Amino acid sequence: MNKFINGNLLKMNTEEFLSNIKKAFNEVFSNGNIEKINLMSYLSEKKWLGIKKCGLLLPFLPEKFGGRKNSQFEIQEVLRIAGSYGVPITLRTGIEGALVLQPLLEYGNEEQIEKGLEMIFNGEGGGLAITEPETSGSAIAKEMQSYYEYVDENTVHVKADKYWQGNSQSDFLLIAAKEKKEGKLSKIISLILVPREYITYDVLNSEGLKAVRYAVNHVDAEIPARYIIKLSESKANCLREFQNIFIRSRLQLVGMTHGIMEYIVKNIKKYSKSDIPFVKGELDEIETIYGVSKIMYDYTCDNVDPEKSVSDKLMEANIIKSLATEYTYNAAKTAQKLLGAKGFEAGHPMSNVAIDFRPFTIFEGPNDMLYAEIYDHFSKATAVEKKEGIRINKNSTIYERFISDRRFENISVNNIVNKVDDLISFLKHHTLNEMDQIKKVFVGKILARLFLLIQTESDNLIKFLIRDIRKDILDFEYNS
Ligand SMILES: Cc1cc2nc3c(=O)[nH]c(=O)nc-3n(C[C@H](O)[C@H](O)[C@H](O)COP(=O)(O)OP(=O)(O)OC[C@H]3O[C@@H](n4cnc5c(N)ncnc54)[C@H](O)[C@@H]3O)c2cc1C
Repeated sequence: MNKFINGNLLKMNTEEFLSNIKKAFNEVFSNGNIEKINLMSYLSEKKWLGIKKCGLLLPFLPEKFGGRKNSQFEIQEVLRIAGSYGVPITLRTGIEGALVLQPLLEYGNEEQIEKGLEMIFNGEGGGLAITEPETSGSAIAKEMQSYYEYVDENTVHVKADKYWQGNSQSDFLLIAAKEKKEGKLSKIISLILVPREYITYDVLNSEGLKAVRYAVNHVDAEIPARYIIKLSESKANCLREFQNIFIRSRLQLVGMTHGIMEYIVKNIKKYSKSDIPFVKGELDEIETIYGVSKIMYDYTCDNVDPEKSVSDKLMEANIIKSLATEYTYNAAKTAQKLLGAKGFEAGHPMSNVAIDFRPFTIFEGPNDMLYAEIYDHFSKATAVEKKEGIRINKNSTIYERFISDRRFENISVNNIVNKVDDLISFLKHHTLNEMDQIKKVFVGKILARLFLLIQTESDNLIKFLIRDIRKDILDFEYNS
């Protein structure tokens, strides 16, 4: 399988390997600036392939497929390093690594994997096609209309309309579709490896991220049935596996956001007027957000393993995804403001950060939906609790559930929560059964920040997180 991989890249230790990746980026992007390439309009495929040949995606490829030794740290680091060169760079890395390569390796058969790897490591790679123009992305598993139908045992007819795929126009798309049987859409969702020749597309004129190439993609063709990648044979497991793809990628996404935070911190220092005390205060807050981002980055490095299932980490994945993107977006907006008019000049290294980053708060699950889901997962028994016969009493207070939930206890490094009187009184005052859809979003935000709060001992980060929790409590009360 590893005919397309330079063996030397596998022999390097982590430090050598990562510095080799940095070197490859520096040659194309001149040490963290983007002046050698205008990412606001394009990224040359030849240059991108050159960086991939230096091993950019190898940490996503397990040893048994000819990749690097199992290391979550290396996965997070390549995303982080890419992010420190700009938003589109890390997004392309994340799409090809986490949304295409990992699902392909997890669910594909040998022939599908071989074909996919060839296109990823020797070609333009691919994208993951889930969202559709006519249905809600938030409710995609339920509403998805794209389908495949067996014409005979070797052929399927695929009818799919998908929009906003990163890496559109590249070698292939992994298209999510439902199986159609006897004229009806079933609940079986599969991925289909659809090579470029079967896809027509209309280029999407996006506001930013031009280098990631977005399009509305259409397939209406008969294709070989061997391209169907079954997530599972059973209906119920199919949905679970579909969700699992996003759990891993949401947990890993913090590699991208942390790198982008570095890009923001590094560049804003060069361009802002830090002698004005208010500006200095805002710069300090960006540094604090960087500290918060580091808590999440470390969480993924320490608690996720590329070879182990993450199906038990849905709540944690939603926390990491929503908070990492919310905070990075806030930092990007502040940074842009601090540049004054320069922040509006096309071609300035900082001018596109906020606009390029905004969709991170929408894709892979819009944040507000994820906050509501965090509350739902918190208020239900976990798989372990169910096995132990534990049931969650819906009349319990948020506080009672919080102290019984081991997902909050296991990672605890401090006991600060009990010292914040107004927070404790809020948690004790509200019960699980009183939450409507709006309140769930705000309690989800509070729980997400609590999850970070108990992982830090830094006074500065504690103060910052408690301030934000207090704002969430005000929002909750305002909406009650
Ligand atoms: C730059 C970019 C890149 C993308 N990349 C890809 C890709 O590579 N592949 C792909 O298939 N798709 C991709 N998408 C599509 C993306 O995944 C969807 O846009 C996303 O899932 C949201 O779906 P929607 O646009 O239909 O919004 P909707 O589902 O209509 O939601 C709209 C808004 O309603 C609110 N909302 C929805 N549900 C809830 C809830 N339960 N609680 C509270 N508020 C809620 C949120 O504010 C949300 O933003 C991309 C989109 C963008 C903009």
